[in-house]
Parts: sequence; C-alpha cells; structure tokens
Amino acid sequence: MKLNTAAMRYLSNDDFRVLTATEMGSKNHEIVPTTLIVQIAGLRGGAGVGNCISELAKANLIARVKNAKYDGYRLTYGGYDYLAIKAFSNRRTVYSVGNQIGVGKESDIFVVANEKGRKCVLKIHRLGRISFRSVKNNRDYLRNRQSASWMYLSRLAAQKEFAFMKALYENGFPVPEPIDNSRHCIIMSLIPGFPMRQLSSHEDPSALYSSLMSFIVRLANHGLIHCDFNEFNIMILDEPKSEDEQFVVIDFPQCVSLDHVDAERYFKRDVDCIRRFFEKKLGYVSEDYPIFQRDAKRVASLDIDVQASGFSKKLVKEFEKAISESREKGEDATDHEEIGEHHGDKEDEEEDDEEDNEGENEDGADREDEPQE
Ligand code: ADP
Ligand code: MG
Repeated sequence: MKLNTAAMRYLSNDDFRVLTATEMGSKNHEIVPTTLIVQIAGLRGGAGVGNCISELAKANLIARVKNAKYDGYRLTYGGYDYLAIKAFSNRRTVYSVGNQIGVGKESDIFVVANEKGRKCVLKIHRLGRISFRSVKNNRDYLRNRQSASWMYLSRLAAQKEFAFMKALYENGFPVPEPIDNSRHCIIMSLIPGFPMRQLSSHEDPSALYSSLMSFIVRLANHGLIHCDFNEFNIMILDEPKSEDEQFVVIDFPQCVSLDHVDAERYFKRDVDCIRRFFEKKLGYVSEDYPIFQRDAKRVASLDIDVQASGFSKKLVKEFEKAISESREKGEDATDHEEIGEHHGDKEDEEEDDEEDNEGENEDGADREDEPQE
C-alpha cells in the first residue's frame, strides 16, 4: 500500500484535530458519526469542521461511509499511518520517509531517517482487513467490535512485536534495536544485510547452521519460541562480526511462550525450517539438531517479562483469538457504500486504501518527504 506523506505538508492543526477526533471516535464506532467527530474535535463553528473533514477525505485519511442508520466517517489506513508518523515526527524518531523495501501480506516496510540522518526501518502492520459483509453476518463481530477491527489488530501486532524485540534486544539477542512504537507502526534499526533466502552458497554452512540452532535453543531457554523462524526472517549481515554473529532475526508478532500448548510443535517447526533450507539450498545435512524435550529447558522467563512490560497474557490471548478469527473470515468484497467527500471527483472515490495494496511497491523513490512538525 502506498504511504501518502504528501498530506503531511499541508494539513492544518485543525485538520489534525479532526483526524485525531475520528481516531478517538473509532474506539467505539465502526463508522464514526459526523456529529461525534464535531463534538470530540471541540472546534467552534460547524463550517470549519466541515472544511477539515473535506480536506481529510480528499487526502484519503478518512472515508465517508453511509450505512443504514447514519452518515459518518471511518479512519483509513492512510489516516492511521499519518497519525503514527506524526507521533514519530513529534518525538523526533522520524524526520523523513524514504523507499519501501518490503511488502508482506500483513506489513509494509519503509526506510526512514531521523534528523541526524540515521537510517531506520518503519514497519507498518496491516492486519484484519475484515469486510463489512462479514461484520454484518456475524453478530459476535458487532458485539466485540474491537476484536474485529483492523486498527485494533494491527496495533496489537505492532505492540507485541515491539515488546518482544525490546526484551530480546536487552538480553543480547541478535535482533534489530527497537526505537519507537506508535499505533500499528514500529521503528527499528536498519539491518545492513539481506534475507537468508538469497543465500545460494556459504563458505562454512556448519557454523551458520549451528549458530542458528543455538539461537532457537537460547530463545527457548528464555521462555520463547519464534514460530516463524525461516529464511525470510533471518537477515545475513553484509559484514559478519564473528562466526557466531552473522545474522539478525526479525519479525516477532507470532512469537509464543514456551508454555503454549503447541510449544513443542512450533519449536520443531522452526528447527525443521532451518534443516530444510540448509539441505535444499546449501546442500548441508546434519544429524545434530535441537530436540524440544531435551533442549528447550527454561532458565529465564522473557515471556513473563514481556507480560510485565505491558503486553499482558490477556492481550496475548485476545490477539491470538482475533488473528485466528480474522483469518477464518478471510477477506471478501465490501458491500457498504463509500462516498468521496468532494463530490464529482471520481478519481478519489476509487482510492480505497484497503484494496490497493497490490503492485504498489518498489517505486518509493518519489516518496522522500518531510513530515510537518
Ligand atoms: P513481514 O511480517 O511482512 O514478513 P518482516 O518484518 O519479515 O515483515 O519484514 C519484511 C522484509 O523487510 C524482510 O524480509 C526484510 O527484507 C525487510 N526488513 C524488515 N525489517 C528490516 C530491518 N530492520 N532491516 C532491514 N531490512 C528489514
Ligand atoms: Mg517476515
């Protein structure tokens, strides 16, 4: 999905207030009634707010939605991105946004820089793109609106990833340095390297193999299982620090505690992933590999530390439940009516942020932009 930073330059403080009001309103409303936006924004004069709403809709930061009962607006991914980047900008963790370097099914990755020119990575989580049809068809969704919301799911994913990255980083694991977190976004250090999947040969596969397996075991000893430990989430450093420090591990939202009921299966899956990759790509097979019952002995409890740091057991449960519900429902076409605020401008009506995330990547050269202070 395109990251629209252009709007950052021309939105006024009042526009920002109205955008924030829409975000606040979405905590309790799938579609925020216009009257509520006006009330939360607390700006004098209805016409002023009307203009702000028009500007925001034109910039695709909010979208007008007409449902059976009332007219209102919902925050778009673009609007949510804007709020997060604005927060980073205010906290001086991000000054400019550069190229997109990765696009996954559930995330977008950009290079960003701070005022001092330090390059970092912005990871934007994009989860739970649930259609209005499935919302309508499922009363539970209406009752637990929060757990069905893409905003809530994406925010939880980012919060979880940030919390785990922080705990791992502080305990000396080779992971990116976690720098900042706002809403569904995290800022982390840029790893000078490439995903292991690009590796077609290696001068000493056994050393790399051993240190990757040691990582899995050490992680388990600290009470955690990565659960997505594959060649896409292991970055090989351009300049290895030593035999044991050749890689950095990324992507933790699916990480689970060693106490998870499926811990053994997940552990084995991570181990098998590495074994398979080494056999297929590097022609390396070893009879030596970690075994859950023998090697996954807990000596520390990062899983508990993370819970204490804010990502509670309850949140973990909620997140897992929401993710599996959301994936079961899948994505299908929306059947609600969405109207461009500025009448007659067909072009923008089509710019639905939730549908156009395919084929929008790798051309970020012109997105160099300065967020408004
Ligand atoms: P996803 O959840 O979509 O798989 P990842 O966190 O795995 O997202 O990131 C996707 C891709 O973006 C990675 O395979 C890697 O190429 C790149 N990437 C992510 N984080 C970093 C980082 N900190 N430094 C360098 N590249 C990164
Ligand atoms: Mg990944």
